[in-house]
Amino acid sequence: MPVFTSRYPSVPVPKTGIIQTLFEAVEQNKNVDRVCYVDALTGKELTFKHIKDMTYRFGAGLQDICGFQRGDVLAIYAPNAVDYAVPVFGTLVAGGIISPANPLYTKEELAHQLRETKAKIIIAHPMNVETAFEAADIVGLDKTKVFVFGDNVVKGAEPYTKKLLGNRVAEPADFQSPEQARETIAFLCFSSGTTGKSKGVMTTHGNLVSNIFQYSAMEHEALYKKETARILGILPFFHIFGLTVVLHAPLYMQRPVYVLPRFELEQFCATVQNYRITFSCVVPPVLLQLAKSPTVDKYDLSSLDALLSGAAPLDADLAAEAQKRLGNVKIKQAYGLTETTPAACVQAGDHIVPGSSGLLCPSMYAKVVNEDGKELGVGERGELWLKGPNIMKGYLNRPQETAYCIDTEGFFHTGDVAIIDENGHIFIVDRIKELIKYKGFQVAPAELEGILLKHKDVLDCAVIGVYDREQVTEIPRAYIVTKPGVEQNEKTTEIIKKFVAEKVITYKRIQSVVYREQIPKSATGKILRNVLRKEVKEEEEA
Ligand code: ATP
Ligand code: MG
Repeated sequence: MPVFTSRYPSVPVPKTGIIQTLFEAVEQNKNVDRVCYVDALTGKELTFKHIKDMTYRFGAGLQDICGFQRGDVLAIYAPNAVDYAVPVFGTLVAGGIISPANPLYTKEELAHQLRETKAKIIIAHPMNVETAFEAADIVGLDKTKVFVFGDNVVKGAEPYTKKLLGNRVAEPADFQSPEQARETIAFLCFSSGTTGKSKGVMTTHGNLVSNIFQYSAMEHEALYKKETARILGILPFFHIFGLTVVLHAPLYMQRPVYVLPRFELEQFCATVQNYRITFSCVVPPVLLQLAKSPTVDKYDLSSLDALLSGAAPLDADLAAEAQKRLGNVKIKQAYGLTETTPAACVQAGDHIVPGSSGLLCPSMYAKVVNEDGKELGVGERGELWLKGPNIMKGYLNRPQETAYCIDTEGFFHTGDVAIIDENGHIFIVDRIKELIKYKGFQVAPAELEGILLKHKDVLDCAVIGVYDREQVTEIPRAYIVTKPGVEQNEKTTEIIKKFVAEKVITYKRIQSVVYREQIPKSATGKILRNVLRKEVKEEEEA
């Protein structure tokens, strides 16, 4: 049976590292005076020259002041900041590895990441210093190894701008061959932990440069063709989606990124309006708010050309609703994983099929495989396997799990269920682990959530399987956040159940409804079904 290949021409094999590739692109195009990053809250701008100067000095500072060696790890524990790229690129210049952490992590969660990566230095946001100290203490890292963003000493932690910018400039670590670029680790991002404990993913220079090439080949239209393209940076830079696609790719394209620390609807709209933003990567909950919140009408968002959603399933009708609401801004979807650095497929150009996650990125191969390991064809549903230059080197400290998910042919087994149509459009159905088994039939929560969101009384929702003793099977249960003014009673429940029942085959019907104030979600908009499952388990045990 077929191996699906990308419809796009292959991208070049990276010959060198991230710094050389990015910086050469800017210098060759004589764009060194261009603004790369803007603090959307204060208007502070950093040009490429600033970035290069600070980055090279940071690299020298790490080596001279901290004795940082090739392969050493630096952790960043902060929300997005205009100068987030400085410790990132500076560490790469020094030949090191960056492990970006979620700024909302608790001390235990951060300690887990520090321990796994053996980080030698932490750069933290001022708000995070206390927790950084506590986590450092847990793993036995000296407090003097914690530095802060900004210009002031915070609770005894020195600002990196005062302490780590050396007086000389370092030469970026050299890459002797494409093999070396392919093998040398640049990042240790952690997967979102949606299906279990978060895993450290070894991303090489070759992986990241390849994905920049792959992504920019597909997003050429949105990012590059337009000289006035302005990109909004709200996706968290600690997660691979924001890291590759928002922090790195626009620099390679020499287009400015307007950085916000987090998503907040009013701020998002104001930034788009004030800076005439043309493009942003988003996650489905952002589109949910853009489609439904009255706030949107107060702003002029007409500068937007397109929004690209990823990290979690985007319902086709929700995309259409948001598109209509925003005056025909193109709403597109992409799919990927931390393990694929991340872009694996993207809706681009004129090849947009509603509900799909687009076409396979250049230089990638895919298989759809059933439970018995049989390779399936067009229109058939099975696990998606992917191969390409952007597939991670492996999981950190977990050789067995790496061997389990990357096979001897180099295909990475994604754990997601997909269908590929006759033109190569990839539809992600759901995760294998999230599928509900109702009496042997498979029910995808994402499908039911898409339907529920269409109901006029539903503001947000999540679906999981819960065990029903009487029927001796898992059944679909919906957690629902109602719109203001809607009564949460038996009548509403029946109306909602009927609404779904009219649209799906019998075994997919919602059999239980629970009302909630909000749905637990990760920083990248993933529904945390494990949190809901844990609640159910605790209730059962109580
Ligand atoms: P963990 O592996 O730790 O359990 P995670 O898989 O959620 O967490 P990430 O690497 O951040 O961590 O996310 C990758 C997953 O996100 C994919 O396997 C897929 O399930 C989901 N995903 C990403 N983009 C899409 C999309 N466009 N449609 C549907 N699902 C998506
Ligand atoms: Mg995963």
